[in-house]
Amino acid sequence: MSSKRSSLEVYLLEKLLEELDKKRGRGTELISLYIPPSRQIGDVMSVLREEYGTAANIKSKSTRKNVQDALESIMQRLKLFRKPPENGLVIFCGAIPQEGAGSEKIEIYVLEPPEPISIYLYRCDSKFYLEPLKEMLAEKEAYGLIVMDRSEATFAKLKGRSVEILETITSGVPGKHDAGGQSARRFERIIEQMAHEFYKRVGRHANEIFLNTPNLKGIVVGGPGPTKNEFVNGDYLHYELKQKVLGVVDLSYTGEPGIYELIERAQKLLKESRLVEEKRLLQRFFYYLAKRSELVTYGEKEVVEKLQRGAVDTVLVSRDLDLHRVKYRCPQCGRIIEQTVEGKKLEECKYSRPKCEKCGIEMEFVEAKTLIEHLAELAKLSGAKIEVISAETDEGEGLKRAFGGIAAILRFGG
Ligand SMILES: [Zn+2]
Repeated sequence: MSSKRSSLEVYLLEKLLEELDKKRGRGTELISLYIPPSRQIGDVMSVLREEYGTAANIKSKSTRKNVQDALESIMQRLKLFRKPPENGLVIFCGAIPQEGAGSEKIEIYVLEPPEPISIYLYRCDSKFYLEPLKEMLAEKEAYGLIVMDRSEATFAKLKGRSVEILETITSGVPGKHDAGGQSARRFERIIEQMAHEFYKRVGRHANEIFLNTPNLKGIVVGGPGPTKNEFVNGDYLHYELKQKVLGVVDLSYTGEPGIYELIERAQKLLKESRLVEEKRLLQRFFYYLAKRSELVTYGEKEVVEKLQRGAVDTVLVSRDLDLHRVKYRCPQCGRIIEQTVEGKKLEECKYSRPKCEKCGIEMEFVEAKTLIEHLAELAKLSGAKIEVISAETDEGEGLKRAFGGIAAILRFGG
């Protein structure tokens, strides 16, 4: 399921939830409504009409008015649907105090979730109820990682883009003994016994951690030398986990560096993981940059220009990109200008507005959206793909630092 969602879809939903999370009503007057695909719109309407009636009993005059206004807005919107969309419908609506002004405004957000919702819920509270959507966003597939040699074993989880190092245990198994004869053979037997005990402990830790990991998709085991194979082939892992071992990978390191090396080496095995996908996308970009530079471009201006010419195959954009596209309009001649500003200047640019070149009067602020949304809209017009890339890989970090967070692979050069 989660692999079908695009990185852009996830990014946009995350941004919206961040924004909604900050909103508070003055009273218990913000409505959250979750409608699963199976629910009849008519049923929902009658529930809302009932709520409207009940709201008449609210003591505070302003809360009563706000709740009823919000219910009315929701019903207006619902009238546009004969039945819920494929994944259901989520609506947030209520009177939100407006910044600067002493007034409130009814705001409404209607969204189709990226996955089907299963709950039906109506809630009126001083904040919006976002948990079901937040849960939906949490990456669902996890991979277990074990890096080991005879002296230590490190356990980690890879979930979506994030790596969580869980613990390292040590064995106390001594290294090879260089004495000869009888004592050497005895010593070797002791070492074998200790190694066996250590594998049993590694197995117990792995079982404890990974049997309780929801949506565990697979386990990859790595390390220098033959230890990892002895461990995987022996009877140390719970049979359910053993079935999930995707592969065994040779590494030069153990411990935390070994975990990162394992992710790097196990690319094929973990191909569904987003980190690997992001690396692959950027490696393609870097390859073209070196070999066929006419097939790539980077920087906001350049990428926008290529998008407008329909020349872009894939836009690669850093998710940390804190740039916004602000739109102004001249109230007299209607001329529109757009500017890109940094996040920290976003509030300021609503008040300090540019003057119209022609009329010499101050322009009106129309709207601001993230540059990523702006690029996504441009991309949609020409059917270009857009990928939102984290900075959690070296390649992603490179996109952010060296290319200003915006790059593109082109359909054709020139
Ligand atoms: Zn003007």
